[in-house]
Amino acid sequence: MVVMTGPSGSGKSTILKRSMADDPRLSLSVSHTTRAPRPGEQHGSDYHFVSDDTFDEMIAERAFAEWAAVHLNRYGTSKAEIERLWEAGKDIVFDIDIEGAKQLMATFPDALSIFIAPPNFQTLEARLRGRGTESAEALDTRLDNARGEIAQANLYRYIVVNDELDDAVATFQSIIAAERRQTKRVLQDTLRAFSDHQTDDDPASSEPASDSHAPTEGPES
Ligand code: 5GP
Repeated sequence: MVVMTGPSGSGKSTILKRSMADDPRLSLSVSHTTRAPRPGEQHGSDYHFVSDDTFDEMIAERAFAEWAAVHLNRYGTSKAEIERLWEAGKDIVFDIDIEGAKQLMATFPDALSIFIAPPNFQTLEARLRGRGTESAEALDTRLDNARGEIAQANLYRYIVVNDELDDAVATFQSIIAAERRQTKRVLQDTLRAFSDHQTDDDPASSEPASDSHAPTEGPES
């Protein structure tokens, strides 16, 4: 599990897209949001775009593993999305804001957390203005929020400064590679392969091994 946060304009989405293209095991958790789709965004692959009423119902049904009001809208990760990716054996990446990240880090203390930072505030502002996707009000909110987020970057296990995109992508990928080589994760993969092998070879053991696809942290609550 990779919990990833970075201010709007930090280049987080680009780093993620490039890394996922190189590494099919990484899979982005698709969030629910009350924000309107931007041109080109697809329902179900960029976000599940929902109304305020639907979002309220999901909160009432405790359907979210985390949610937060971000900028001028609400965003949340559904428990169903985590379970879906979990069952597919993916390394799940959460692109979420700092409030949501704190909630997931509390639930999954073993999750890898990475903060993507711009090299400086001027670059961030220039990138956001250049993108031209936000109204003046939304842009100011995003810039204000960026200050607050950068001030809390110390909560994350790693910080990747996105000055040169190629370097930032390489750093991000090397952090993921190192994380996968942690002894406990390697042993877990070995055990998983061993139990898969046993299941394949032994027709008598047609029951799936109870924990054979469980990554380190299981979806809780
Ligand atoms: P955007 O509107 O630019 O797509 O996203 C705005 C912010 O919402 C980004 O910082 C993004 O990380 C955050 N965000 C996206 N999905 C979620 C989510 O499911 N939960 C939380 N807490 N934040 C999210």
